[in-house]
Amino acid sequence: MLVHGSNAAVVDPGDAVPVLAYLQQHGLSLRAILATHHHNDHIGGINVLLQHYSVPVYTPKPAPQNPVFDFAYSAVKDHDEIVLPELETTLRVLDVPGHTAVHVAYYGGNSLFCGDTLFGCGCGRIFDGSCEQLYHSLQKLEQLPDHTLVYCGHEYTLDNIDFALSVDPHNQALLERQKNSRELIAQHLPTLPSTMGLEKATNPFLRCHMPALRSATHMDRDVAVFCALREMKNHFNHDVK
Ligand SMILES: [Zn+2]
Repeated sequence: MLVHGSNAAVVDPGDAVPVLAYLQQHGLSLRAILATHHHNDHIGGINVLLQHYSVPVYTPKPAPQNPVFDFAYSAVKDHDEIVLPELETTLRVLDVPGHTAVHVAYYGGNSLFCGDTLFGCGCGRIFDGSCEQLYHSLQKLEQLPDHTLVYCGHEYTLDNIDFALSVDPHNQALLERQKNSRELIAQHLPTLPSTMGLEKATNPFLRCHMPALRSATHMDRDVAVFCALREMKNHFNHDVK
């Protein structure tokens, strides 16, 4: 959720209940809803939120093979700017396909809302996009400043670090991140947002050019390293991450 004064916008409300509770507890008015892609754990709460708040919904147009939305929305695409006057914020839309064939991220105010494209120390699984698309999308996000706050769609950081250490075992920044993330989780705190700088130092999917990752995958082209890592990750954690 983005909050400015008594106004808020929410990204990827998979469930309306915690969003409504937070708005009520903090005396906030919802001004906009933004979605990164069509998966239900990112849009499942939108219809209920619209029963309480008559606000614009921004989302990319679903791909032809995906279900159409059952709510009114404004379709967004690469380079669009979403002006949220009550929040005194403008968000830029970035096309970042790969997890799904159509997927966007929202960037503004030093914050990146990237849905299931980039995770803390990992990346999304390939559904109806391709690993080449996801590789190029992560390359695009990597261009953002190191101090960019990275708000991912899920808290998968600790599991992702386990995989990252299996392919990049001597990375000191990664070992340190594991220690810090374990401490946060033990205190029931999120590991997110992270920063783009931390992701570049620790996330194997942004480090395909490094010798350790080439060696772990027996590949030499960055995109081939990336696709091999994504495939290895599918077999490392058996749940959908
Ligand atoms: Zn998803």
